[in-house]
Amino acid sequence: MSEQRMSTKCIHAGYTPGNGEPRNIPIIQSTTFRYATGEQMGALFDLEASGYFYTRLQNPTNDHVAAKICALEGGSAAMLTSSGQAASFYAIFNIVSCGEHVVCSSSIYGGTYNLFAVTMKRMGIHFTFVDPDCSEEELEAAFRPETRAVFGETIANPALTVLDIEKFAKAAHAHGVPLIVDNTFATPVNCRPFEWGADIVTHSTTKYMDGHANAVGGAIVDSGKFDWNAHADKFPGLTTPDESYHGVTYTQRFGLEGAYITKATVQLMRDLGAIPAPQNCYYLNIGLETLPLRMKQHCANALAVAKFLKDHPKVSWVRYPGLEGDPYHERAMKYMPNGTCGVVSFGVKGGREAASRFMAGLELASIATHVADAKTCTLHPASTTHRQMTDEELAAAGVSPDLVRLSVGIEDAQDILEDVERALDRV
Ligand SMILES: *Cc1c(COP(=O)(O)O)cnc(C)c1O
Repeated sequence: MSEQRMSTKCIHAGYTPGNGEPRNIPIIQSTTFRYATGEQMGALFDLEASGYFYTRLQNPTNDHVAAKICALEGGSAAMLTSSGQAASFYAIFNIVSCGEHVVCSSSIYGGTYNLFAVTMKRMGIHFTFVDPDCSEEELEAAFRPETRAVFGETIANPALTVLDIEKFAKAAHAHGVPLIVDNTFATPVNCRPFEWGADIVTHSTTKYMDGHANAVGGAIVDSGKFDWNAHADKFPGLTTPDESYHGVTYTQRFGLEGAYITKATVQLMRDLGAIPAPQNCYYLNIGLETLPLRMKQHCANALAVAKFLKDHPKVSWVRYPGLEGDPYHERAMKYMPNGTCGVVSFGVKGGREAASRFMAGLELASIATHVADAKTCTLHPASTTHRQMTDEELAAAGVSPDLVRLSVGIEDAQDILEDVERALDRV
């Protein structure tokens, strides 16, 4: 059979039932797996045979869903984690140790920023944050001899900047390190970072992939293309024996295709344990089946909302990469010609007060600390997540007091537009 297309993979990839087996991915809600002899289980521990023995390391339900996400991204291996935060942490910590360094786009999710700049700093891992639109020279200047990875988001949450993946990949590879891209907002339906030179992709599956606000989760996918052996001195964790795992050398035993994810599974998941529940992976899989349909509707609805806002007299500015005239429109058309995401941000004339009144006037859209699910929801950072900050502090954080973030759902576009129009009338 020839390579399947995206919508087909979203339904079928990762799981092919045999004769008389369940058509749906079964939920294997079991921590343990039975073996007849101790020798059989011993071979599993030595990574000599493959098989399941304890769900903290691997579980069949989780693995089927990971294999689907791997196929969607066009990777060589993948694993699921209990949250997007865990995915970001594992993706870096798998190859970066105390005393080493990462170059990172400054336009990233706030939770990721905190993980990197505060928590991982306490572990001795240092990050240099660069403007995603910096020149090649400025990007070059951020590297150090101890740099081990580069990190960015395809479409940043909530800034909605679009990463120039090729520019960041080129810089990373010139320094012999991989580019890791958080592809949460675009999803593989709209962008496949590996095709532009990224080496590893992460996801908060909590967002569009699950799509229904059912289950928090994360994923890490490896392209299998980064040559760890060519830069063996930088990545001893992959290229020299792991004494904590019977002296296995990951690149030798599992090849470039499997080394990175195997290490993250048998070492990080073993020791840190951020495994998702099989039940949650089952929900995630249901979401994945309709991802292409939903992304199409999210993007169409968001574009309609962005166009409406752009022409509205009470709106001072609109940011949506899918909108012509947006500073990131051209780059979005290059990397995501079929659509970007469903999140739009805009300013209400009259600042903090007016934005607050706009929110209160919404009826269909709910006020929620979430983005990227089926239901339209909205957040006014200045009166919620950032409410303790003064207008000056907000500006420094890149959040203007009038900023409203609207996560456009998959309801009928007309109903969403009427809700937004009514709320603006009430300002
Ligand atoms: C939400 C989010 C995360 C964190 O994911 P959780 O599943 O909430 O832990 C990471 N990156 C991006 C881009 C996100 O939007």
